[in-house]
Amino acid sequence: MTETVSRRITLASRPHGLPKPENFQISDVELPRVADGEVLIRTIYLTLDPYMRGMMEDAESYDDPIPLGGVIVGSTVSEVVESRDPSLAPGDIVESYVGWQSHAVVPAAHLRRIDPNLAPITTALGVLGMPGLTAYHGLLKVGLPRSGETVFVSAASGAVGATVGQIARIKGCRVVGCAGSDEKVAYCLDDCGFDACINYKTCGDFEAALREACSDGIDVNFENVGGPISRAVMMQLNEHARMAVCGTISNYNATDAEMVPDNLWWFIVRRIRVEGLLVTDFAEHDEAARAELASWIEDGRMIYRETIVDGFDNAPVAFNRLFEGSNFGKLIVAVGDDPTKG
Ligand code: NDP
Repeated sequence: MTETVSRRITLASRPHGLPKPENFQISDVELPRVADGEVLIRTIYLTLDPYMRGMMEDAESYDDPIPLGGVIVGSTVSEVVESRDPSLAPGDIVESYVGWQSHAVVPAAHLRRIDPNLAPITTALGVLGMPGLTAYHGLLKVGLPRSGETVFVSAASGAVGATVGQIARIKGCRVVGCAGSDEKVAYCLDDCGFDACINYKTCGDFEAALREACSDGIDVNFENVGGPISRAVMMQLNEHARMAVCGTISNYNATDAEMVPDNLWWFIVRRIRVEGLLVTDFAEHDEAARAELASWIEDGRMIYRETIVDGFDNAPVAFNRLFEGSNFGKLIVAVGDDPTKG
């Protein structure tokens, strides 16, 4: 039987600063019939990621902006409802990139089958999905940490940050992070095995706290936030340090953000290598990375945390939790029944 109606959330207007409910429109649309090579999928979970904010801007980026009236982009974990492709059958669980919609008809070739026995299926959006792969590739291929070095990561309790910290620990590094609440700091220290973690909101003089936590300086900075935290970290980078620039979430809602830093002198003084990274550039290594991340979960060396918000229509409001810091770990919206749960 074919579901014919999909609920979708589109971009009604471009946000100025933090997105507001009126920037989004929720509507129900009829879906086309499933053609040969296509499948009908039903969304179980959809992901909320910081990069989506950038795609709501009409500005130069690494991808085209979402057009006005376009569905908000993003990955989902979905169930195949109907298939007209031999590679997938009803009941299969897949990862898609159909964005904020409850159902979709898509080519089977655009989907990745998820093994529900590997780990809970939500992990396909988190530690075994795009954020986990970002941490893995970004740290190991761009940060190039060596055993005994100090790795610093900002937004340390988040989907990317907590994974970075744990990989660095597995690789024998000293791991220091910063996060925005005592609960998040405790999670990094007690559960993820960080050597030090600073509550940047309550520590007072962040630079002094960082100096104390990183008495031998910093060899790898995994940059997630930008702004004042980033400047303080840069000043404590050792000679020949590496900066893996992954994100600058502190200015995603800024209305006057500068694109280019104005003084590069310090990078000469310390011979620092700065490299921006984009997870999709490493796609050919995703399967190997995912297998290693899964093996670390299996043997207990890697843990993860998720915040799951109920209800498709809550996605726009829940999205802002990323910028307010009220998510804790991977932020996910539960849209429909999860058949893998007993
Ligand atoms: P998180 O799960 O870490 O959630 C975002 C967190 O960022 C918040 O919980 C908050 O944590 C922190 N934050 C928000 N605003 C600020 C601020 N002004 N100053 C400091 N911290 C802030 O998100 P992700 O793990 O999904 O993403 C982390 C970063 O990685 C983002 O910058 C994202 O854009 C980037 N990214 C880049 C990719 C790439 O390919 N380059 C791919 C995936 C992610 P707290 O409470 O600790 O402040």
